[in-house]
Amino acid sequence: MVADPLAKLHEVFGYNQFRGVQEQVVDRVLARQRTLAVMPTGAGKSLCYQLPAVMMDGCCVVVSPLIALMHDQLRAAEAVGIRAATLTSVDQNRAETVARFRDGQLDLLYVAPERASSGHFRELLASAPLSLFAIDEAHCVSEWGHDFRPDYRLLEPLMDAFPEVPRLALTATADAHTRADIAKQLGIPTEGMIVSGFDRPNIRYAISPKANVNLQIARVVADTPGPGIVYAQTRAATEKLAEALARTGRPVRAYHAGLDPAVRAKNQADFVASEDMVICATVAFGMGIDKPDVRFVAHAGLPKSIEAYYQETGRAGRDGDPSVAHLFWGADDFARARQRMAEVEPERQAGERARLSALGALVETGGCRRRILLRHFGEELAEDCGNCDNCLGSPDAVDATTTAQKFLSAVFRTGQMFGAGYIEQVLTGQSTERSLMNGHEALSVWNIVSGDEVALLKPVHRALLLRDALRTNHHGGLEFGPAARALIKGEARLSLVVPPKRERKGRRAAPV
Ligand code: ADP
Ligand code: ZN
Repeated sequence: MVADPLAKLHEVFGYNQFRGVQEQVVDRVLARQRTLAVMPTGAGKSLCYQLPAVMMDGCCVVVSPLIALMHDQLRAAEAVGIRAATLTSVDQNRAETVARFRDGQLDLLYVAPERASSGHFRELLASAPLSLFAIDEAHCVSEWGHDFRPDYRLLEPLMDAFPEVPRLALTATADAHTRADIAKQLGIPTEGMIVSGFDRPNIRYAISPKANVNLQIARVVADTPGPGIVYAQTRAATEKLAEALARTGRPVRAYHAGLDPAVRAKNQADFVASEDMVICATVAFGMGIDKPDVRFVAHAGLPKSIEAYYQETGRAGRDGDPSVAHLFWGADDFARARQRMAEVEPERQAGERARLSALGALVETGGCRRRILLRHFGEELAEDCGNCDNCLGSPDAVDATTTAQKFLSAVFRTGQMFGAGYIEQVLTGQSTERSLMNGHEALSVWNIVSGDEVALLKPVHRALLLRDALRTNHHGGLEFGPAARALIKGEARLSLVVPPKRERKGRRAAPV
């Protein structure tokens, strides 16, 4: 190989320099060393295999899980003059592609992981000159990842049949545990892992419990000029939010899979072109759209995982200007997530549980949010970030163990069948016909919470649900979950973060 990567970068892509870890990754690939590149979205992963693909002899086979994504990539590669093709079920020109591949007329060939399992494909690979295997979205190979695809497991045996061909796995989303698993599953040595910086210092993170979420989001919208994305969990919720937000006077659109495709495309185009529009969307929105000046991303409910949260909030502030990410969560989000968890295959439950508890730690912390977020991706901040709600408001933590014990006792002594409202009545001694009839006024837990402690009851209730110390049954009644015992026995403690007073009283000035 004579060409110099930097010169080639300029010649083919028109860029003057590498970004972040690109050069490191490209160097390893050119040295034919197996590599796993973990780089956030937008960091420029594609270039890490596209550049070697044009520099090395033979064709680079790229495994990618989504046909739509492959076609985007194909267009982009062809636009800079790379000889590329896709080999998928929807391509009409497969025979021609196969011929070009065999003839050494291709730099890049995109295929879906399903191909890997076919004997035909292995024969095809054996009949063509190969330069590199690139595995995109490599977290799909891990059951610990959030998007496990069994077909990815067939890639390692396939690649093993071509031991002389180097491999490059790429992913944007992997915690340290998943990362190690990806490397193992794809036969990449630990020293072949290259992790780029994940910090997005211009994004301010803020996370609060839901109170009236539409109102909370309307406040974010009112406080933050510029384009924004609001993520809701259901189609109906996106529409409701769009309606509510329209009253703020900002242009608002909804975006979800249930909309007529023409309407959806128009809403997206309008948003991309606008300087102050708010789009209320399900999480499908944002993949592949390039809008650098998004000033805020708000979540009207818990995201699926820390990776998803990072990915979704990462759509804010790509231009580097100050931006905000607001997340509003409820204990019901955790309860629902646990329900879903019970439905996944047993071998995936441990991963799901870990994901949920990592989210719990992020939303509940009184410490620096960015620190927790980055630690999840294996990065340690030298000091607190100074640009998250907790750093800016320094919330106080209180030990709420005793209140939690009182709450749990009241649930237990009333027979694990009443809702939170009733439990609060019992604890604060509010006599009603119901409490009288039930004989609950004679219980030892009757009227044992008063004064400042009353304000802790709702957050304690939320925290108990989040920790799975309490569960809600089909009738809305509370019953013990597996984490109740340790709290009651005093083996576990419950510390709660009290939001800073000034945040509760009014709005803070917008950062932009
Ligand atoms: P990822 O797959 O990591 O999300 P992409 O490969 O889509 O990121 O790249 C994101 C954007 O960055 C693209 O528009 C790409 O052209 C651009 N890009 C990549 N590398 C460079 C570079 N070295 N210099 C300038 N722009 C780059
Ligand atoms: Zn911070």
